[in-house]
Amino acid sequence: MELYSGYINKLIEELASLPGIGSKSAQRLAFHLINMPRDRVQRLADAIVTAKENVRYCQECYTLTDREVCPVCASQKRNHKQIMVVENTRDLAAYEKTGRYEGVYHVLHGAISPMLGIGPGDIRLKELMARLQGEVEEVIIATNSSLEGETTAMYIAKLIKPTGIRVTRIASGVPVGGDLEYIDEVTLLRALEGRVEL
Ligand code: ZN
Repeated sequence: MELYSGYINKLIEELASLPGIGSKSAQRLAFHLINMPRDRVQRLADAIVTAKENVRYCQECYTLTDREVCPVCASQKRNHKQIMVVENTRDLAAYEKTGRYEGVYHVLHGAISPMLGIGPGDIRLKELMARLQGEVEEVIIATNSSLEGETTAMYIAKLIKPTGIRVTRIASGVPVGGDLEYIDEVTLLRALEGRVEL
């Protein structure tokens, strides 16, 4: 039996397919949207489509940006010889919020996970290695402290070691499985300052 109209069902289905949204939240959101004034619904829909069409990967660090090269990579004030490797754009934002990191970043867009079938070729590792052809003094690996994050860190360290470039890992003490974006700025800075050689 169809409880709702087919259109509402379709909307609930789409919303429920988003990360972190269960079927109850999807239903609540769907009814909220239906009750919103038409122009507000249009603004929301436009914002989604516009973002999708205009956001792209920075040509250097692969973070999500509106420009060809993101503001961090474009800045002359940043130390381009120090590259911090993070799993995603949210992690980059977390470090930027501290306002204390002066190097640049490299965004992998994922982590190696044999269990999920995500291999080195599925993240932006090749691109990182290409950047190391330039003048780089240190690569700081700031992947999460989850199993996947640690696996990725070890893999990258092994790849970079032979190049002679300094490889460091942010200090642990960041709770296991913890996402960088949920960690407060003081803890992030402590993790950065206490980084160890790999
Ligand atoms: Zn960039």
